[in-house]
Amino acid sequence: MKLSARSLVASIAALAALALSTGARAEGNLTVYCSVQEEWCQLMVNEFQKATGITVAMTRKSSGETFAQVKAEAANPKGDIWWGGTGDPHLQAAEEGLTEEYDSPKLAELHDWAVKQHETAKKRTVGIYLGALGYGYNTELLEQKKLEAPKCWADLIKPEFKGEVQVANPNSSGTAYTFIATLVQIMGEEEAFKYLKALAENINQYTKSGAAPAQAAARGETLIGIAFQHDVVTPSITSNAPIKNVSPCEGTGFEIGSMSIIKGAPNMENAKKWYDWALTPDAQKLGAQANSYQNPSNKAAPIPDQAPKMADIKLIDYDFAKFGSSAERKRLLSRWDKEIGAK
Ligand code: PLP
Repeated sequence: MKLSARSLVASIAALAALALSTGARAEGNLTVYCSVQEEWCQLMVNEFQKATGITVAMTRKSSGETFAQVKAEAANPKGDIWWGGTGDPHLQAAEEGLTEEYDSPKLAELHDWAVKQHETAKKRTVGIYLGALGYGYNTELLEQKKLEAPKCWADLIKPEFKGEVQVANPNSSGTAYTFIATLVQIMGEEEAFKYLKALAENINQYTKSGAAPAQAAARGETLIGIAFQHDVVTPSITSNAPIKNVSPCEGTGFEIGSMSIIKGAPNMENAKKWYDWALTPDAQKLGAQANSYQNPSNKAAPIPDQAPKMADIKLIDYDFAKFGSSAERKRLLSRWDKEIGAK
């Protein structure tokens, strides 16, 4: 048989296309629900695709919103893995049977707090990073308004900060739920809700995402933004923004950012591949590259120099089992809706 040069080229191209398509099919797909900052989500997805050849579809939503989506899709799951976001809604998903038990071979490499999260969830979630709550204020606005710098949670309800404070809505945002749970643990529930009512007088906006108030404070759109301290330091590092981080004097709560495999995941094997990979030091180093400065959960992953120093922060003994339980999270959110959000 004699092949013309043109048909030979066409045959080779067809064979190459076939090899590529079967190769891609062999590696398959993965749908990731991501609850950290978009930049970090994207970098994780790109690096995972490069490392494995698996094609990833990613959706970025806040922690409370992702929980609601996973719950709404439970009868017909569309996502495979939920990566990032505060631990409480991951624990609630675990308790409600929305996520899958998994023992990663990487568990032995993790800090105790990350393994404890896995135990609390009966293997249905795991800690991937840790970060403390706080707030940031815009130093230029503070000077213009000739106000004294706030140092404590108590300072945020002072009348001089009327309309000057921003925080997220705890229904959508894991950060804002951590804020409520932190206040309840520091003050007791009745005092905490009195405080939240007084604070509502000073709030200019309840945002959807937890990091947004820190970004708004950095831009001078609000004087004070309540957020995780690692989210407060980011704009001062990336754009030299005039924002100062405050670790409140009464002490503060923290999050164990978590990861869970969605029950009935259509791509279960690839979800486990992402899970194992996301616990490696190399994957955990990507946070700092994407300007997210949490403490990673793998002991061999370096703590970024820019991360707020945990040793300098007065951390409360946050009760994750209680505040991540389905009944408690539902109850506190509904009380917040009734007494604060609806006003
Ligand atoms: N982005 C970063 C960098 C975080 O640390 C967290 C907390 O886990 C989130 C986003 C989640 O934010 P949200 O409060 O919007 O659920």
